[in-house]
Amino acid sequence: MHTLPNLGYVYNALEPFIDEQTMRIHHTKHHQAYIDKLNDALKAYPELQNKKAEELIKDLNKIPEQIRTAVRNHGGGHVNHSMFWKLLKKDTKISKEFLKIIEKSFGSFDKFKQAFSEVANSLFGSGWCWLVINKNKLEIVKTSNQDNPISEGKIPIFGIDLWEHSYYIKWTSRRADYIENFYNVINWKQVEENYEKALRGSFSVI
Ligand code: MN
Repeated sequence: MHTLPNLGYVYNALEPFIDEQTMRIHHTKHHQAYIDKLNDALKAYPELQNKKAEELIKDLNKIPEQIRTAVRNHGGGHVNHSMFWKLLKKDTKISKEFLKIIEKSFGSFDKFKQAFSEVANSLFGSGWCWLVINKNKLEIVKTSNQDNPISEGKIPIFGIDLWEHSYYIKWTSRRADYIENFYNVINWKQVEENYEKALRGSFSVI
C-alpha cells in the first residue's frame, strides 16, 4: 500500500508565496486522492503492489493495459507530489558549486530562470515544468497531466506543479505570478542532492 508522506514542515511554512490553505488541501486531499486511486488500481495485481511508484511509471508498457492509464495518472501523481514537497523551502541559497553547473548549462542563473519560466508559462492546461538530466545534460521540459519525465528516460531533479489546484486560491488566474514567486521557495539543497544522486545512478523519489 502506498501512503501519504509527511511534508516535513508546517502548512504555513511557505507563506506568503504558497498559502497555508493551498498546501493543506494539496497535500491531504489531492495527493491523498492520487494514492488512494493508485492503491485501488493495484488491488487486483499483487505482483505490482511491492514495487515503488517510480518503478511502476518508469516503463508503463510493462503495466497491464487494464490499469495502465490509472497507474500513469495516479502513480505519476503520487511520484510527482512526493518529490515536490521536498523541493519546497523558503530562504535557501544555491551553492557555489551548483551555481556553476547551472551557469555552464544555461549561461547564467538569470538565463536559467528566464528559460524555466518561459517553458512553465507555455504549458497549456494542467501539468508540470521540470529541470531534468537527459543524457548527462541539464534540460528544461514540460509534461502534461501527471506525466513524469522518468517515463521518457529523463531524470527529474526539480519541478513545479502547474495544476490550478497548486496556486488558484492565492494567485487565481495569475499563473505567471505564481511561477515568478516560486523562485522564493526552491529548496536548492534538495535540487543539488537530487542532481548528485542522479549522476551516481542512485536517485529515487520515494
Ligand atoms: Mn498538484
